[in-house]
Amino acid sequence: MAPDRVLGGRAPPAPADQDRRPGGSRAGVATLRLDHVIGHERVKAALERAWRQGRLVHAYLFAGPPQVGKRLLALELLRALNCSDPAPPCGRCRSCRLAAGGQHPDIRLFGLAESEGSGRRQAIAIEQVRALEHDCTLKPYLGAWKGYIIDEAERLSLPAANALLKTLEEPPPHVIIILVSRQPEALLPTLVSRCQTLRFGLLATAVIERALIERFGAAPPDAALLARLAQGRLGWAVAALSDRTLLDERQSALADLERLLGAETGERLAYAEHWAQLVGRDPDRALARLDCWLGWWRDLIFLHLGCPDLVVNVDREATLRALQATVPLATARAVASQVAQTADYLAQNVNPRLALESLVLALPRR
Ligand SMILES: [Zn+2]
Repeated sequence: MAPDRVLGGRAPPAPADQDRRPGGSRAGVATLRLDHVIGHERVKAALERAWRQGRLVHAYLFAGPPQVGKRLLALELLRALNCSDPAPPCGRCRSCRLAAGGQHPDIRLFGLAESEGSGRRQAIAIEQVRALEHDCTLKPYLGAWKGYIIDEAERLSLPAANALLKTLEEPPPHVIIILVSRQPEALLPTLVSRCQTLRFGLLATAVIERALIERFGAAPPDAALLARLAQGRLGWAVAALSDRTLLDERQSALADLERLLGAETGERLAYAEHWAQLVGRDPDRALARLDCWLGWWRDLIFLHLGCPDLVVNVDREATLRALQATVPLATARAVASQVAQTADYLAQNVNPRLALESLVLALPRR
């Protein structure tokens, strides 16, 4: 299927087909509003326009950094497709309520969290894609459309990606599939070419701060700090607001980093080994530690460049300023890029111990 092919068929849609395109029959009648999702105005405008014109397509790729709202917007769009209110998604009808509770029979989420097995999450298995394939052939149970979200699509196994490719070639007319990915370059190019890609960016600090206060009831001082630490990821800020362990983990990740700068090789390697074990047990936590480190190294770069206003970890500024004298800008840049590279390696299933050992050994000694 070409990405520009609208839902509803291969030929230009006949009048009867209009009803088979998401939003098609309601174009000009119902007005899609995706306001519930904060930011991403360009992406939301593109979807709202496609809805108005009855030109939503069968397959989308929502690509962009983690925790910025990609999956949320995908769910919001699928809720709207199955909502009968003139201003979908209304949030009140049965369909909207089921969707909000994750119980809608025609809206399904596939991803690593849904994988069965030993609990070690590695890849989205072909069995999951087969289940999707089978479900696609059934008529919608409650709403007009069957919608599928494939979260962390970069983790599709090769057989799973190939199976999905077949479904995307001939999608049933009532089906819409949204791939969500923080790392679209790791997807099969043939898969990407069958989707319409919408790119998401990081949110501005001021947007996050306002959202935390107005939508999530944060106290202004908390909102100011969290918005800075979030580095464009509202999802992280909202999670940190309700779960202080995220802030505690950040504290210990940065304390570990500062300690390792004064540590010998043996201590560094032991740390990498523990970290690699964490990758096996809890990959999200292991990756979050890298995010904290990356923010810290960026801060050091900003101080070198004379931009203290851009420092995110304001509570570590004294330590960072003290290190400026011993860690030159070029070193800070090199380590920051290695931290980012390590995050890519871990996402791609490169041997975590090797990747992390190489990182801790590359840290300068103060
Ligand atoms: Zn509704």
